[in-house]
Amino acid sequence: MQTGKIGVTTDNIFPIIKKFLYSDHEIFLRELISNAVDATQKIKAMASAGDYKGDLGELTIRVAVDKKKKTIKVSDSGIGMTQEELDKYLNQIAFSSANDFLDKYKDQANSLIGHFGLGFYSSFMVSDKVEVITKSLQDGAQAVKWTCDGSPEFTIEEADRKERGTDVILHIDKESKDFADEGKIEQLLKKYCKFLPIEIAFGKEQEWKDGKYIDTGKDKIINNTKPAWTLKPSELKEEDYDKFYRELYPAGDEPLFNIHLNVDYPFKLTGILYFPKIRNNIEIQKNKIQLYCNQVFVTDSVEGIVPEFLTLLHGVLDSPDIPLNVSRSYLQSDSNVKKISSHITKKVADRLNEIFRNNRGEFEKKWDNLKLFIDYGMISEEKFYEKASKFALLKNTDDKYFTYEEYEKLIKEKQTDRHNSLVYLYSTNKTDQYTYIEKAKNKGYDVLLLDGQLDVHLINYLEPKFKDSRFVRVDSDVIEKLIQKEEPKESKLSEGEKNDLRSIFNVRTKSKEVYNVVVETLDENEAPVIITQSEFMRRMKDMAQMGGGMNFYGELPDSYNLVVNPNHPLVVKVAGDLKADSGKKLDENAAVMKNVKEEVDFMEKEHGKKKPEEVSQVEKDDLEKLRKELTGIENSRKEMLEAYGSGNKIVKQLIDLALLANNMLKGEELATFVKRSTELL
Ligand code: ADP
Repeated sequence: MQTGKIGVTTDNIFPIIKKFLYSDHEIFLRELISNAVDATQKIKAMASAGDYKGDLGELTIRVAVDKKKKTIKVSDSGIGMTQEELDKYLNQIAFSSANDFLDKYKDQANSLIGHFGLGFYSSFMVSDKVEVITKSLQDGAQAVKWTCDGSPEFTIEEADRKERGTDVILHIDKESKDFADEGKIEQLLKKYCKFLPIEIAFGKEQEWKDGKYIDTGKDKIINNTKPAWTLKPSELKEEDYDKFYRELYPAGDEPLFNIHLNVDYPFKLTGILYFPKIRNNIEIQKNKIQLYCNQVFVTDSVEGIVPEFLTLLHGVLDSPDIPLNVSRSYLQSDSNVKKISSHITKKVADRLNEIFRNNRGEFEKKWDNLKLFIDYGMISEEKFYEKASKFALLKNTDDKYFTYEEYEKLIKEKQTDRHNSLVYLYSTNKTDQYTYIEKAKNKGYDVLLLDGQLDVHLINYLEPKFKDSRFVRVDSDVIEKLIQKEEPKESKLSEGEKNDLRSIFNVRTKSKEVYNVVVETLDENEAPVIITQSEFMRRMKDMAQMGGGMNFYGELPDSYNLVVNPNHPLVVKVAGDLKADSGKKLDENAAVMKNVKEEVDFMEKEHGKKKPEEVSQVEKDDLEKLRKELTGIENSRKEMLEAYGSGNKIVKQLIDLALLANNMLKGEELATFVKRSTELL
């Protein structure tokens, strides 16, 4: 029997290990099983190279839990260890690497998140005693047993083990007793070992017999040793990819597409990524990409390893070249990781492009589901935009799909305004904006449907990319002005009459929205009154709502333009009626206003001739008085006109009709409107 002290400098290394790995105690199982897999793969490799002549026998790794004795045992039939190897690997090398590790990271214990391989010694996170019984593959090797109780002291003695291989037995400590449970271990095996390349048996398959479940003689194998990503794409059919998806996410929806990654240089990376059906934000985080290192599960938080928009994808990545044993901030600055990230981005774009070219119909059918993902990718990764802008689609209100290039061609001729700017008309709601869409279509324009979650951002992103172009919501102005092509139309009414119309139509409604009345010379066939909301204002408010940092706009009330068309016969009629009813009063007002205005103008001119200090106080006061008088006359005209408008059924009816077309007439106002309509009829 050999006894000794493990080669460490710190006596209390175990408490440190425990503290260090606190958040991730469960990885001990992954580490032990990885070692067992390595030892088994080594013997297989030696046998196939002819370096091992013995019988390979069964190579299954077995895991067993003894709840009573509080032990977990991991057994393999790998290469095993001689006494010398045991001494070298477990006492010297393993411990010194643990020691190095602690030395290096002592000061940044808190910044250390995630995973790092402390290998075999991580078993002390959960055990107060560990035994290793092992027999080397060498002819006539003596089985040996290593025991260590968590202090640097260990013993090695001869042991009984007939077959080649290693058993590691953990005596679970009090604080970790939850691990001495079959259910818990099975859960961990399924998490970390589901795709390991050597079969892992945990207990027996059960069957229902005589009213209860009993063990069969058959091992329960918990892993798939040949997961789809390790096979060649040529060996796999579409069904196999779908089947594998279900293996990863048993409850997941059918994926849309998959990408099989297989990179050898400058780093090794394999994997399969799936495009899920994304309908809303809530679903996005459900199934995460799983990261493996030689088929050992490492993590499902891939932030920092793949670009953010790709975290919307599902699937697996496997790379021995990603340094998984370090903190996340280190990962993000690692050059290999950066290369992997841009490589995956490129592959994803290429694959989408391939599907688009080969089967446009299929691509269009899936576009509504893909859209969020692709738009997000374009907005967040310039490199992705460069590729994706060739196949990203725009959908119009007739459910037709176009690439950016196709769409530009489609609208170029009709939707270029007189300043040579190409206007992309869009709607965010086909039902609410129905009348505006129809009007635009009647003019020969095309209207896009941009009703997605990211569309506000997309528009802001695309506008500067598309040269000399702007996006304009179809209801943000009257049709003539959405895409201005010619000089404004001639008006049937004089400037003065138009001014009066502004006051007449300034009829306050009960709604909280603020209206700004504008008189806009339109075609006589256009509606008499139209409600619009400025593109700029609305977009700012949308951004504020999404947390775009524009709170100022978010707090403003919704503001609309009430556009009055002075060329429409009904508006002309209102102006005519006004003349007939109150023409005399208005003319009087105008005459007085004219006189006072002339006086004001005259005095201002006189004052202008003098130096400021030469104008006397009396003169200043006189002018001020006159100005006040003028404002008073103007206001009284406004009041008169507003009172006239409020009492005018046609005016109110026209405003209500415009509100109604915009789905903005509600409650009491709607009831009043209906009543007034019957009266007018
Ligand atoms: P690592 O696996 O990273 O090398 P470990 O501390 O886990 O570090 O193990 C140290 C060494 O002990 C291994 O490299 C291997 O040579 C040996 N070893 C551990 N477990 C086994 C096993 N089940 N069978 C054979 N050798 C093993």
